Amino acid sequence: MTRRVLESLTQCKVVLRTGVGYDVIDVEAATEQGIAVINIPDLWTREVANQAMSLLLALNRRVVNLHSDIRSSTWTPRPPYDVGSLHGETIGILGLGRIGSAMAQRAKGFELNVIAYDPYISDEVFTDRGVTRVSFDEMMSQSDYISLHTPLTDETRHIINENALRLMKPNAYLINTSRGPVVEEAALIKALQEGWLAGAGLDVLEKEPPASDNPLLSMDNVVLSPHSGHTSVLSLQLRTGRYGEEVAAVLDGRMPRNLVNPQSTRASASGVA
Ligand code: NAD
Repeated sequence: MTRRVLESLTQCKVVLRTGVGYDVIDVEAATEQGIAVINIPDLWTREVANQAMSLLLALNRRVVNLHSDIRSSTWTPRPPYDVGSLHGETIGILGLGRIGSAMAQRAKGFELNVIAYDPYISDEVFTDRGVTRVSFDEMMSQSDYISLHTPLTDETRHIINENALRLMKPNAYLINTSRGPVVEEAALIKALQEGWLAGAGLDVLEKEPPASDNPLLSMDNVVLSPHSGHTSVLSLQLRTGRYGEEVAAVLDGRMPRNLVNPQSTRASASGVA
């Protein structure tokens, strides 16, 4: 939803983002037009954290490689590649919001040491979640796994660039279930091809769906899913009712649960404060 599109919607009162990240909407333009922007941040927190943990476990236990071996008639209970242990390693979480916190909780269940970088969260929240606060560079260099959970903003676009990747341990893994452009994909491909990163688990890519010649599609140390982290039987059941409730709230002059731009005047004029 670009400025051009929003400016042409002269009667529009509300735009609903049917997910968490509203980077696809020009919120400033919507606010100037008086259009309320709503997102749905809470229906799939567990699903996305589970997806991140699934990617981590798939990489750690080499699930996809073992599965492919069997399908090509190779039965090797002691495979020729390393299968990891998982207790006492360190996971770094970028963005300790809803999904990042759910990921921290899951990682603790797997006896991982959890550190995080999030400049917008108070020390009390870190203490409450039992997560150690570190700087960005400390998180990148100390972690055996790094899981990304920030929104896509001007600040986070390509925050995981070549400089950041070079801070990582060569045996570390990168997990991204946030937004593709948070990672500079060309730098990630280079890191994986040159072996200064052990592998990556990616639910999101810079271009979705990816080009058929994207090198990530053919790397043995990469596990991919098609931006499906939010999906579950339950989240699919709940979403349509919730979309309707949120839009109806604005049109009825009531406060929706998640108004992104409370300053939007057209929404305010209809009673939404
Ligand atoms: P959230 O708003 O609860 O948490 C985001 C956290 O990132 C916040 O704590 C914020 O302070 C932090 N943050 C912002 N800028 C940062 C920076 N520069 N450095 C470090 N931390 C920073 O959001 P959430 O519900 O946890 O969702 C996180 C993201 O996950 C969403 O924005 C969306 O892009 C993505 N998502 C993906 C899927 C999927 O299907 N893969 C589904 C839902 C959400």
